[in-house]
Parts: sequence; structure tokens; C-alpha cells
Amino acid sequence: MQPIQNIFPLLDQPKNVVITTHQKPDADAMGSMMGLYHFLKQFGHTVTAISPTNWAAFLNWIPDSKTVLDYEVHTAKANAVIDAADWIFCLDFNVLSRTKRMEEKLLAAKGEKVLIDHHREPQQNVFAYGVSDTDKSSTAEMVYDFIIASGHADKINEAIADCLYAGVMTDTGSFRFPSTKASVHTMVADLKQRGLEHSHIHEELYDNFLESRFRFIGHVLLNRMEVFYEYNTALIVVPQADLIKYDVKTGDTEGLVNYPLSIKGIKLAAVIIDRGEERKSSFRSKGDFDVNTFARKYFNGGGHYNAAGGFNKEPLDEVVAKFKAAIKENKDQLSTYQF
Ligand code: 5GP
Ligand code: MN
Repeated sequence: MQPIQNIFPLLDQPKNVVITTHQKPDADAMGSMMGLYHFLKQFGHTVTAISPTNWAAFLNWIPDSKTVLDYEVHTAKANAVIDAADWIFCLDFNVLSRTKRMEEKLLAAKGEKVLIDHHREPQQNVFAYGVSDTDKSSTAEMVYDFIIASGHADKINEAIADCLYAGVMTDTGSFRFPSTKASVHTMVADLKQRGLEHSHIHEELYDNFLESRFRFIGHVLLNRMEVFYEYNTALIVVPQADLIKYDVKTGDTEGLVNYPLSIKGIKLAAVIIDRGEERKSSFRSKGDFDVNTFARKYFNGGGHYNAAGGFNKEPLDEVVAKFKAAIKENKDQLSTYQF
């Protein structure tokens, strides 16, 4: 993988460009993808953003999100665009399997793949160019760095500022996580000076849910949460029937794992959801418990030190049993929490 700076001299030669991100893109995935989209378009490139799956409705305010191809819906069209691509930017994921059904197509694609990502242990060998930095708060911050380093800061317009702010704000938990370095505030200050209106973005992302989502959360917190005080761990298990009963939509379960994490003394919080085709898990930790390693070891996943996820094909009760066995195995690390 060559350093990403090596593509700067090539930026003003019009190319066919695809930008993609991980399945079920969150605000950092979608924001960094569309921020880069609005940047590259200004050079006369033909740019297409492709998401491996659908996304939450609360991301539909993102400028030009209507042009994003959902790979599961527009497979043939997306395949043709990928075939014609000179560059394929891969944002906010580190292994191609995070693109689900797109993985094979991406592996076979002739275009040069360019990585911009902040997850641990990237699949380096498939990328021609890239930057991977786990110290970065968000992929949106890395797209901002890319734009600044390319010498084209003057191209940052309102659309780019909105997209990048959405990514950095959500991935830092509204600027509270330790990943919020001074560089994050400097970036936001710069975006503000370039005209960013940030308040409406918070409203779009956090004040835009249907009543059914809150009924679902109420039900889950009351009936589906178990706390294991001896392991400083809390677990929420959601059977598929709950998703149907409460008409749970894409994005409705985002942030659910933060409720058990905010219980006093909890070091590890987990949510396991039966999505039918697979059991999807989310892990969050506080302090020195490494959920990236935990997710890799037991749940075919990965992510960051304090936020990770995974998936299993086994039935829900087996995955839950696996989780309970895993916390026992990690008792030494989990039970030593400083309050
Ligand atoms: P979330 O819990 O919000 O879905 O994901 C938390 C973090 O873990 C994200 O940074 C995400 O990229 C990563 N992650 C979630 N699911 C998976 C997975 O199945 N595989 C890998 N490698 N990473 C995941
Ligand atoms: Mn991210």
C-alpha cells in the first residue's frame, strides 16, 4: 500500500471514481463517503458512491445521499460502475468482508483501491494506496486531513463541511471520547469558519426517530437486559420477534449499547441482536478492556479498542452462551475496574 499522498499529483486528471464504505453505514461512513464525493466532483471526476446495503433514514439529509447506490437494490448498475472504475475509495472499514455481498466484486475489480480508515489491523495487501490510522477520531477527520494535505482546502464547501461534521461528531460521541484530540476541535473550528451550521445536523441525527423506536428501547431495557456485576458487564439480547413487533428499522438499534455502558461500574457492554440471517453483536468498553481483540476472538469481528462488533451464524442462545463463557474467560481483566 503506497502512501495516500502519492495520489495528490493525479487528482486533477479526470477519472472514474467509486467511493464505498461498510454495510449498514453509520454517520461516519456516510459522512466521510459523501464528503469525499463532494470534494472529488470538483475536479471533474465521474464519482459514484455505493453503499453495500441500505442505511438509516436519519442520514437522508446528507447532501446528494439520494444519488448513493444501494448495492443490494441496484446490483447490476453498481457492478457496471465498479467495472469501469479507475479508483475505488474504501472508507471507514479495514477488511473487504465488511462490504458483505460486494466483497467478491471489489476483490476482482481492476481499479486501484484506496483505503482511508481508522480501524485496527487493515487488510493492507488489497489496497494500492491508503492511510490507516487508529489514532484518528473518525474517517471524516481523515478525509478532512486528506483534503487539507492535498492543498485544496479552498474546495471545502457547505456540503463537505456538513458531511464531515456529521462523521466526526458521531464517531467521537459528540466530542466526549478520548479520541477527541485537539486536531478534532481545530478541524471543527475551521469548518465553522468556512460556514458550517452544526445545530441542524444534531437535530437531523438525534431528534428524528419514530415513537416505535422509543417503545422498543423501553421494552428492551426493561425485559432484555442482564447485568453481571461480578464481571462489570451488561448484556442486551434482542430476539428477532422484538424487531418485528416494534417495527424496528435500519438505524433504530444504533446507540442501544450505550445505555448499559452508562450504568455505574460497567466496564463492558454488549448487544446481541438476532437479525435472522446472522446474530449481530456490538461491544463497548471503558478503560483498559480491548473489545477489538474480544470481538475478533469470539465473534468473527473487530473494530476499535473501546468499540467493536461482530457476527455469528449460530442460533441466538448459542451466541449468548458463548458471550457468557467469554466474560468468564476474561474475568481477570473485567473484574479489575477502578471507579
Ligand atoms: P457498531 O457496534 O457500532 O456496529 O460497531 C462498532 C465498531 O466495530 C465500528 O467501528 C465497526 O466498524 C466495528 N464493527 C462492527 N461490526 C463489525 C464486524 O462484523 N466486523 C468487524 N471487523 N468490525 C466490526
Ligand atoms: Mn468510523
